[in-house]
Amino acid sequence: MVAISSVERPTMECETEHFLMAQRQLDEIALEMGLDRELHERLRYPKRALIVTVPVRMDDGSVKTFTGYRVHHDVTLGPAKGGIRFHPEVNLGEVSCLAMLMTWKCALMGLPYGGAKGGIRVEPWKLSAGETERLTRRYTSEIINLIGPDKDIPAPDMYTNEQTMAWIMDTYSINVGHTVPSVVTGKPVSIGGSFGRTEATGRGVAYCVRRAVKHFGIKNESPSVVVQGFGNVGSVTANLLHQSGYKIVAVSDVYGGIHNPKGIDIPRLLAWLSEHGKVEGFPGTEIVTNKELLEIECDVLVPAALGGVITAANADKLNCKIIVEGANGPTTPEADMMLHDRGIPVIPDILANAGGVTVSYFEWVQGMMHLFWSEDEVNQRLEQIMGRACDQVLELATKDKLRPRMAALRIGVSRIAEAKRLRGLYP
Ligand code: GLU
Repeated sequence: MVAISSVERPTMECETEHFLMAQRQLDEIALEMGLDRELHERLRYPKRALIVTVPVRMDDGSVKTFTGYRVHHDVTLGPAKGGIRFHPEVNLGEVSCLAMLMTWKCALMGLPYGGAKGGIRVEPWKLSAGETERLTRRYTSEIINLIGPDKDIPAPDMYTNEQTMAWIMDTYSINVGHTVPSVVTGKPVSIGGSFGRTEATGRGVAYCVRRAVKHFGIKNESPSVVVQGFGNVGSVTANLLHQSGYKIVAVSDVYGGIHNPKGIDIPRLLAWLSEHGKVEGFPGTEIVTNKELLEIECDVLVPAALGGVITAANADKLNCKIIVEGANGPTTPEADMMLHDRGIPVIPDILANAGGVTVSYFEWVQGMMHLFWSEDEVNQRLEQIMGRACDQVLELATKDKLRPRMAALRIGVSRIAEAKRLRGLYP
């Protein structure tokens, strides 16, 4: 099959450095799997992208204007699905890149969704609760024509949480005149959320770590783990692995990291964190920077914070045997190749952190049925779906000697391609 050359390809405003990374991944797997050239070209761009202006009355009475986005990459298999992030680095390219990853992630997990992402360019830590609420509500009303339980279902992402989802749900419901819980997932249980959703991403990452340790033959009785990011994903992953007898040797948050080669008592660290607000200073540990943390010797490294932290500059300095990506896009394509050459397998984001969107799907299904499951039932079903996807990816990677990322992408992309072929082109 012919690769799409730089001469004939169309261009779009979303093509930032970040977005080109996602496109390059698609190009690589399209070539490898012999994807139809026209289908490939279509999948390289978002289906639609909305940019909105969000004016907000600040606490001091002034009005500040923010920029917001909502992008649908593809909706072939069902409504668009994906988180909303509040972060100063949010831009059209980043949101479009993450929307594309959501398409592959949902298809890989066998969920009846397309891929979306949204966000507002803002420093969320500088806003009061009232300002955050007004920002969220005005953003929701600006993107209201795009979202809906059958159209596009937002969820939490970086610096958004169940409270954000409750405000989005309320704003949407007030505007349509009746309560519509299924317009978002990741909302509080008391207004239609699902048990297990908050922990789901971390639970899925921990599941992948255990699976990868077995698959790649790590013999250590209690494998050592380094977790970058101790937020909703990293802290749950660390805690669950600690419970399964793993040794968590280092963790970090935005302020920096802590290290103890003998292992950190995670339940005690969680109690420390709720009192002190950061991991630094936890007794019996040494302080490390977020950069140093990535290079600590361990069996499994879990980057569960920002994107783009494992790059060509540090890929040859990492001292781990396996990487399991809790964050979206933590490894650059160059670093991915370097790690492959070094024999370090990377369990990719679209598999490793897919527990979140999988339980989002459960929440949406429960909401539509008005029938709610117990936490055990949610966790069991999550393990079933994670297990099936892990098996498929690892089997294909072994059989066709592919990097796990490429195997995961091939499964996701081929499901979308098949559905697009069957549905045909309108008109
Ligand atoms: N933001 C999460 C992700 O990147 C969850 C998306 C969702 O639950 O829809 O997968």
